[in-house]
This record gives sequence, C-alpha cells and structure tokens, in this order.
Amino acid sequence: MYYENDADLKYLQGKTVAVLGYGSQGHAQAQNLRDSGVKVVIGQRPGKSAEKAQEDGFTVLSVEEAAQTADVLQILLPDERQAKVYQEEILPYLRKGQTLMFSHGFNIHFKQIIPPADVDVVLVAPKGPGHLVRRVYESGGGVPSLIAVHQDASGHAFDTALAYTKGIGSTKAGVLVTTFKEETETDLFGEQAVLCGGIADLIKSGYDTLVGAGYQPEIAFFECCHEVKLIVDLIYEGGLSRMNYSISDTAEFGGYNAGPKIVTDETRKAMKGLLDDIQKGVFARNWILENQAGRPSFSAMREQNANHPIEEVGKKLRSMMGFISK
Ligand code: NDP
Ligand code: MG
Ligand code: MG
Repeated sequence: MYYENDADLKYLQGKTVAVLGYGSQGHAQAQNLRDSGVKVVIGQRPGKSAEKAQEDGFTVLSVEEAAQTADVLQILLPDERQAKVYQEEILPYLRKGQTLMFSHGFNIHFKQIIPPADVDVVLVAPKGPGHLVRRVYESGGGVPSLIAVHQDASGHAFDTALAYTKGIGSTKAGVLVTTFKEETETDLFGEQAVLCGGIADLIKSGYDTLVGAGYQPEIAFFECCHEVKLIVDLIYEGGLSRMNYSISDTAEFGGYNAGPKIVTDETRKAMKGLLDDIQKGVFARNWILENQAGRPSFSAMREQNANHPIEEVGKKLRSMMGFISK
C-alpha cells in the first residue's frame, strides 16, 4: 500500500490535467485535484455537465481541445462511449509524453482502446462513488484507490499516477497496486455477483416471498429492503463479526442456518460461471454489441425492474421518513 509520504505531487507540477467528462467521477476528481493545487481543465461536450463545470469555476474545453493542450488526460466518460470518443476526438491529437488515464480498465483490457506506444497508460480507480470521493476529501480524508500501469513510455508512468492519487486524496486512505486485468475482472464480478446483481435480486426475492404469502407489502419492504442499509453499515464499520455482535442471538442463529440454504453450491457455480464469462470476454462482447444495437435488452430490463412493486411501496414509505435524504 502507498500512503501520503510515498507520493510526490511534483510529477504533476507544470502540467495540465484534463478531466474528460464531468459526471459522477469527473466532478469529484477534478475538484479534489484543483484543491490540491493541480492545474485542471475539463473536456466536455456542450450540455448540462458542461454548464455544471463552468458554474464550478472550471475552464471547459471540447474533448478535442483538451486532448491537444493537456498533458494528462483522465478519461471519465461512460465506459461504453469511451472507444468512439477516443477514436474520433482524442487519438488524432495524442502526442509523445502525454498520459492517458482511466478509472476503470474495461476499454484497455478488452482492447476497445489501443493507445500508441509513446504515451503512458495508467489506471487510477477510486474505490467509491464520485460523490463520496468529493465529500470525504472535503472533510479532510480520501477514499482508497487502485493504481495500475499498462504502458510506461516516459519512465515515470507510475509516479504520475501516484501523484494523481495524492491529488484526489487517496493516499490518505491507501493506494493499492493492481493490473488493468485484475481491476477490470474483479470490478465486473463484484458488481454482478454481489453488489448490484446479487443484492438487488436477493431483496426482490425476499420481498416477493413475503408478499406472495400474504404479508403486508410495507412490512416486507422494511424487512427485506430498508434494513439492508442498517446491516451493511455494521459490516462496513466492523466486519461481519460486528454485525453478529450487534444483532440478536436469534438473528445470528437463524442467519448461520439459513445463509447456506440461500447461497447454495448452485449459486457458487453460477458465480463461477459469471467469472468465466467475464474472463473470456463474453460479458464484454455482449455489452459492446448491446450498445451497438441501441440497447434493446438493456432498456427492457431497466423498465421491467423500475416497475417492480417494491419500488412503489418504497417510494411511499421513504417519503414519510424525513431523515432519509437523496
Ligand atoms: P457519468 O455517466 O457519471 O459521467 C459521464 C460524463 O461524461 C458526463 O459528464 C457526460 O456528460 C460526459 N459525456 C458523455 N458522453 C460524452 C461525449 N460523447 N463527449 C463528452 N462528454 C461526454 O460517468 P461515471 O463518472 O460514473 O464514470 C466515468 C468512469 O469512471 C467510468 O470509466 C466508470 O467505470 C468509472 N468509475 C465510476 C465510478 C462511479 O462512482 N460512478 C466508480 C469508479 C469508477 P453529458 O451530461 O454531456 O452526458
Ligand atoms: Mg464498475
Ligand atoms: Mg427483524
């Protein structure tokens, strides 16, 4: 792990960092870097995000202008659009000595972007959503980051990336070295099997089971959805043992018995199947093709999920709980 004293901001001194995209990660990383004394410009197409960046006091350039003028290009565009923007608006202007940076390895690892040999290619991936990256920095800390070097043309690719992690506050929490392959595959697996796919379907299945058996939807919502946060907060603070310490012995006993019946050998086999598809590039190919086709199946699933009854009940109940803010 690398910390504050291991990183030197001098590797960004005299340089201009262009943050391309002013969304969740873009706004946070750009503002943190600026507050750390780094010269930052934003590369953004016209629209809401561009206006927001301007309001926040940044010089906003087109992606093309940013690629022409900046030394470090941090690509914080949506993953599925990066290859096209790179091809049309970045690649024509790339020159020796520049650094291409990413916060997710997808496009490099799956060869959607193949940079020329004379630029540095690095990864700085904060382990937290953009708004937390900004909030934690403002309160004097930083969220941890992963760092990786795909291509070191200058001999200083790692130093530049490490300086960047310091600029966004991550060296206060710890910076862990990885590879584009490891970051990409574990990130996709985590969000599919556990964080996004797994949890969402666990919540919905629990809710459906209770409501299907005739219990009130409101109670099913509290038990299977609302309380997830309270439990996850305990795990976040002190691990699974802190959760077990805090819950009742009844809940702990029931949990030990029930867990393996829900997450069975079949579930573990399915997880392994997801990982295989990620490693072999099957998932990446499907997602790339889905985007090329105009996202028909993605849109249908999004709509179907948004219409699940738990969303309606949840909306109603949350509106009565004033302590929950968006
Ligand atoms: P967002 O969708 O929040 O933001 C994307 C930004 O790119 C928007 O400001 C959007 O502006 C802009 N944009 C989209 N298309 C174009 C275009 N053609 N030309 C110029 N600008 C464009 O993305 P995220 O911040 O979520 O993700 C950025 C990267 O960070 C991804 O690689 C992601 O995997 C990674 N990441 C994200 C995390 C997160 O917390 N969200 C966590 C860790 C990594 P507009 O308003 O014009 O559409
Ligand atoms: Mg991800
Ligand atoms: Mg209970």
